Amino acid sequence: MAERMLQFTKVSRSMPDKRPAPVRAADFDEIYADFSPEAAHAQASRCSQCGVPFCQQGCPLQNNIPDWLKLAAEDRLEEAWRVSSATNNMPEICGRICPQDRLCEGICTIEQSGHGTVTIGSIEKYITDTAWAEGWVQPIKPPRERTQSAGIIGAGPGGLAAAEQLRRKGYQVTVYDAYDRGGGLLMYGIPGFKLEKDVVERRIAHLEASGITFKFNTRVGKDVKLAALRVEHDTLLIATGVYAAKDLKCPGSGSDGVLAALDYLTASNRKGLGDEVPGFDSGDLNAEGKRVVVIGGGDTAMDCVRTAIRQGAKSVTCLYRRDRANMPGSQREVQNAEEEGVVFEWLANPEAILDTKAGKVKAVRASRMKLGEPDASGRQSPMKTGETFDVKADLVIKALGFDPEDLPQLFDEPALTVNRWGAVRVDYATMQTSLPGVYAAGDIVRGASLVVWAIKDGRDAAEAMHKAMKAMASDRVAAE
Ligand SMILES: Cc1cc2nc3c(=O)[nH]c(=O)nc-3n(C[C@H](O)[C@H](O)[C@H](O)COP(=O)(O)OP(=O)(O)OC[C@H]3O[C@@H](n4cnc5c(N)ncnc54)[C@H](O)[C@@H]3O)c2cc1C
Ligand code: SF4
Repeated sequence: MAERMLQFTKVSRSMPDKRPAPVRAADFDEIYADFSPEAAHAQASRCSQCGVPFCQQGCPLQNNIPDWLKLAAEDRLEEAWRVSSATNNMPEICGRICPQDRLCEGICTIEQSGHGTVTIGSIEKYITDTAWAEGWVQPIKPPRERTQSAGIIGAGPGGLAAAEQLRRKGYQVTVYDAYDRGGGLLMYGIPGFKLEKDVVERRIAHLEASGITFKFNTRVGKDVKLAALRVEHDTLLIATGVYAAKDLKCPGSGSDGVLAALDYLTASNRKGLGDEVPGFDSGDLNAEGKRVVVIGGGDTAMDCVRTAIRQGAKSVTCLYRRDRANMPGSQREVQNAEEEGVVFEWLANPEAILDTKAGKVKAVRASRMKLGEPDASGRQSPMKTGETFDVKADLVIKALGFDPEDLPQLFDEPALTVNRWGAVRVDYATMQTSLPGVYAAGDIVRGASLVVWAIKDGRDAAEAMHKAMKAMASDRVAAE
């Protein structure tokens, strides 16, 4: 079958079809169509099957990418799915939303040789979407049930990955989440045009059918104490993400019509899910007919600008203090946003929010910046040029990133150690926190990061929790 591979000199790189901008900007559906089987096989056959697969090193989960590409090229999709899902709890989600240009695809060997990377993410999505469609993804049946239990706080990708891994080993797993649905930012942060919500709901339903108990609308620290959960479960995982929005420090930032990004995105996602959202219906959290200014240059800012376009904003402008090459968000997303009509003001730093006498936002005053010399980290700092300009606005969205909440206080556990940014400290060898039997994973450990890293942490933590619970069980047997 070797002749099926190494086709990169004959087959050009091609992504699944992207819906035209005017069509996709009218709804919240994903923007890429599915690969046809022929296209997926052809694209997978471009892999050069490197002896040392750099793509695997670029993937935080160390996915066996060349193996599943070869199986996909040979149309052995069930085997491809088994290999792919052995290292990843949600390949169809990573295939959709990993910033592949910075991970696996960024260091693909044929990309380095100028042939254009293998479209790893799209093929990963294709394989697992096929697995769901064919009914290969079945509820987990552990080889044996164990009586020990694990409590998972947070139903985002970190918590869900850990829950699945522990259930596979037969533990009794309960997931607690403050929200009314699972998925964390997969459900309420990331918009449908990047990740349709039924893809997330399907995963949660699969875990429920596998015997995992979900307790929604349960905020640990308020509705139930961490101390009580430590008594109830043999081990605990904290996977609560980071939700304290960084604020805009300039005059007028509290004006009427200035919103936090996650409030805005959550309202939009909830509306799409059919929930009652009074703040959206009143117009406060809806960009329709408004001149919208989004402040920030990360993935959250890109999600806000593209959501505003879909809500029918009159204009959408993104202000970012560095230039395009130095923005933290994915270049692919900037291109998508530009195609959909977003205007980018690079090298623009907000100085003040201007408002009307009634306190309603009317414009953002920005300083024109230039990039100075690189600092110790190698990053060029933005500096003011002295020039300012105003952008008219009816709605301003602050997308400046997130910090951890004060968990020791929230959980009433002063012995839970955090670093100077408030992220939970763990021993990376075991993902254990300063509290015995309590582990942590995902954004609450790393600070705002990526889905694939949350999954990796969740898997590592689950492995350590398993080892700890096994040791506890043998101690109990020895004591009897
Ligand atoms: C707008 C936006 C877009 C993004 N886009 C991408 C992208 O395209 N690709 C990518 O890889 N990453 C993206 N990210 C980052 C990614 O979503 C996160 O890195 C990832 O979700 C972190 O997973 P987690 O499990 O640690 O936390 P989360 O997904 O935040 O889940 C944490 C869960 O814990 C629950 N929780 C919090 N506190 C408590 C409590 N006290 N008690 C009970 N439950 C609690 C929350 O309700 C939530 O469900 C994006 C983030 C944002 C905000
Ligand atoms: S999980 Fe993400 S980084 Fe890893 S192979 Fe898939 S798309 Fe690439």
